[in-house]
Amino acid sequence: MASKELLIFEKGNGKSHKNFIPKMEIEGIDIDEIIPPIYQRAQLSIPDTPEIEIVRHYINLSQKNYGVDNGIYPLGSCTMKYNPKINEITARLSGFSQIHPLQEENQGAMEVIYETSKMLGEITGMEGFTLQPAAGAHGELTGLLIMKKYFKSRNVKKSKIIVPDSAHGTNPASAKMAGFSIIELQSDKNGEVPLDQLEYAMKEKDVAGIMLTNPNTLGVFDRQIKEITRIVHENGGLCYYDGANLNPMLGICRPKDMGFDIVHLNLHKTFSTPHGGGGPGSGPVGVVNDLIPFLPKPCIIKTSEGIICKSNNEKSIGRIKAFWGNFGVIIRAYTYILALGSEGLEQVGQISVLNANYLRVLLQKKYDLPYNRICQHEFVLSDKGLPNEVVTEDIAKRILDYGIYAPTIYFPLIVNGAIMIEPTETESKNSLDNFVEVMYKIYEEAHGDPELVKKAPNNTSIGRLDAVLAARKPILHD
Ligand SMILES: *Cc1c(COP(=O)(O)O)cnc(C)c1O
Repeated sequence: MASKELLIFEKGNGKSHKNFIPKMEIEGIDIDEIIPPIYQRAQLSIPDTPEIEIVRHYINLSQKNYGVDNGIYPLGSCTMKYNPKINEITARLSGFSQIHPLQEENQGAMEVIYETSKMLGEITGMEGFTLQPAAGAHGELTGLLIMKKYFKSRNVKKSKIIVPDSAHGTNPASAKMAGFSIIELQSDKNGEVPLDQLEYAMKEKDVAGIMLTNPNTLGVFDRQIKEITRIVHENGGLCYYDGANLNPMLGICRPKDMGFDIVHLNLHKTFSTPHGGGGPGSGPVGVVNDLIPFLPKPCIIKTSEGIICKSNNEKSIGRIKAFWGNFGVIIRAYTYILALGSEGLEQVGQISVLNANYLRVLLQKKYDLPYNRICQHEFVLSDKGLPNEVVTEDIAKRILDYGIYAPTIYFPLIVNGAIMIEPTETESKNSLDNFVEVMYKIYEEAHGDPELVKKAPNNTSIGRLDAVLAARKPILHD
């Protein structure tokens, strides 16, 4: 074998060539009997590429990419904070990374899951947690299925759910998937839930409760939250908290204390796992005592004999993910929480709010701020009033030319031409000032040299796509 592998590199002509595969020999087994010779390959075409070319290929690709390790990533609602490298080290410890998911009795792994559930319980006030869901939206579905099963167990018919128009798009989608129909509530001029309309909606028949994000997608905290949850409870409903963006609440305010019964968190946002490339994520769901029996099974519980896995809970909604969820993400969150401690987490909350308000105050000097009030972790500008028909998309594309990532755009839908900015706590004052400077420059360009902005990005590897052409004549392959 060894000499044949060598041969591949010696040839070095940049083309693939045939290499002979040695016939497999296992003592006591006749390979020809298991795999008839006609299905066995004697030759294999192996690419013949020098190491340096491979290294250059991947380094060049990596330099075309952009991540929070390159610079600020103010993508609103996504909490693109710096992910400490210590998380990667713990997640890769062989005691964690080399275990098989069928090793249910691995006490170390089960302890991490158990302890993480406990810490999330402390952070949110919730009494029981499942770490199975693989993303925020998956957590929403889980929470809503719990709600459904709870009402079913009490023989109460509930088919509708209230979702304010300031909710994340996944909320109505998950509610629909769980079989609810949606009653949309329009936010008032402060971006808050109008209590009279909430009360009116709750009086309708069959309403299971409300799904709410607080702070909502405008980045504002609903000051009447205790009233909201009271109204829902008094009318026989449950309150679901979308805690994907828990950052500003850490150590300051707990969903349970606001009156919520079910919450999901996004470990990959608030608790620092790299995301944005499509996964893996983790969307744990926490519930109050009455709802614990409905959590997905198996549950991990602590007994005098150690931590065990319980799968005979009858009321459970069942399994919603294979094995234990995305364990690597759970280890990262566990490391992050332990590294910061309760004081550190509280500082995360405070600084994320401070950073967002710093940017808000400076940027509102040039850009329209439709909901003008102190924000939480993020805020939403708009393109209203920009000259020369410069719109949100142009601003976002021009930001790329300055070597930084764009904010979330055209979301939330309740703001026309929305530019949603979330700096997170891990940006320094220098980095925030640089972002403001870039936004000011683009504002000046929109006035003095609008074509520059409208044609942007001008210096990225790929220029602006022709959206009209792409829709009319899609090329779906290379
Ligand atoms: C990101 C986000 C979600 C969805 O989370 P995923 O992990 O992308 O499924 C839900 N709600 C809010 C408020 C979010 O910001």
